Amino acid sequence: MEIPPLVKQGSVLSTEESRRYSRHLALPDISTIGQERLKKSKILCVGAGGLGSPVLMYLAAAGVGTLGVVDFDVVDETNLQRQILHGESDVGISKAVSARETILKINSLIKVVVHDVELSRINALEILGQYDLIIDGTDNFATRYLINDAAVLLGKPYVWGSIYRFDGQATVFWAEHGPCYRCLHPQPAIDVASCAEAGVLGVLCATIGAIQATEAIKIITGIGTALIGNLIMYNALEMSFEKIEFKKDPKCDLCSQNARQLQLLDDYEAFCASPSSDEISVFDLKDRIDQGGNFLLVDVREAHEFEIVRIPGSILIPLAKFFDGSAMASLPMDKNIILYCKVGIRSATALNILKSAGHKKASHVSGGVLAWVENIEPELEVY
Ligand SMILES: [Zn+2]
Repeated sequence: MEIPPLVKQGSVLSTEESRRYSRHLALPDISTIGQERLKKSKILCVGAGGLGSPVLMYLAAAGVGTLGVVDFDVVDETNLQRQILHGESDVGISKAVSARETILKINSLIKVVVHDVELSRINALEILGQYDLIIDGTDNFATRYLINDAAVLLGKPYVWGSIYRFDGQATVFWAEHGPCYRCLHPQPAIDVASCAEAGVLGVLCATIGAIQATEAIKIITGIGTALIGNLIMYNALEMSFEKIEFKKDPKCDLCSQNARQLQLLDDYEAFCASPSSDEISVFDLKDRIDQGGNFLLVDVREAHEFEIVRIPGSILIPLAKFFDGSAMASLPMDKNIILYCKVGIRSATALNILKSAGHKKASHVSGGVLAWVENIEPELEVY
């Protein structure tokens, strides 16, 4: 979708800036007027981690005049594999402060505003309100809904990205011109495993973060076709990109004409943690097994985990087969399916996919195989 430049009137470039950004000025689509718009623009990145690193570093180099950074975390050794804003000497210090230092090393002509706080319903509107455009570098659903809701209420574009193992996604939500995050996910999706549990290919952050930074520059300067209403899905192993179109939900609670949500929610954590009726305990599962219930027990972990320990009577269908759709072909639609994994996160994701595919009789085991061993068969091995 072609849209006019978000920043209407730029700030005049100095001679030094004209020299520095000469490769941008040489592009007819950007030229001096586009670079002046970038200089005038204020972009907020929520999260100075895996996605925030390439986003902030490239936007700094590109000459975005004001970069805001929200992060209240400190740099941990395990971040260094992908969060290239931070180096070994930054371990233990604030990510926002470390980010600021790196950004200013790249470009001392720009302004960096540090928000060393957790984004919350109390401060979100005030913080986001200071910027032209918001970029998501977070990794949790509660913050995504909060950013989306605040961005819609403020009328700001929201450039979104997410990463999982070898897969990444990116899009632009902007209620004024297209769908918002709630149009795509009206209810919280069941949480996928965190990077800590699932792992993530570090360099994946660069691919998805670069897409986010690119979209931000296009929107500020009004060039090209913004990714509004289109979801990019990237797989590093296949080196494949897919672009899927999605539409504004005419019944969206937040951004449609009949919107009922006119302000931020009271509690985003609670909204995203709403207990699922599709969850069963290991005690329930034991009862059903003892009663000889007619169901299929499916382990969605990897084969090497299945070899270590499993719930008796289960079959193995790794989570990836739910993502690529092949699992659905082998699961009978008319039979009860009970899914489990190590702790209940991956099985929740598989359940979500199964339900989206129209499977009505599925549930998953709360706490996974570890809860089973702890409560039912303590003699089994744990890992
Ligand atoms: Zn919406």
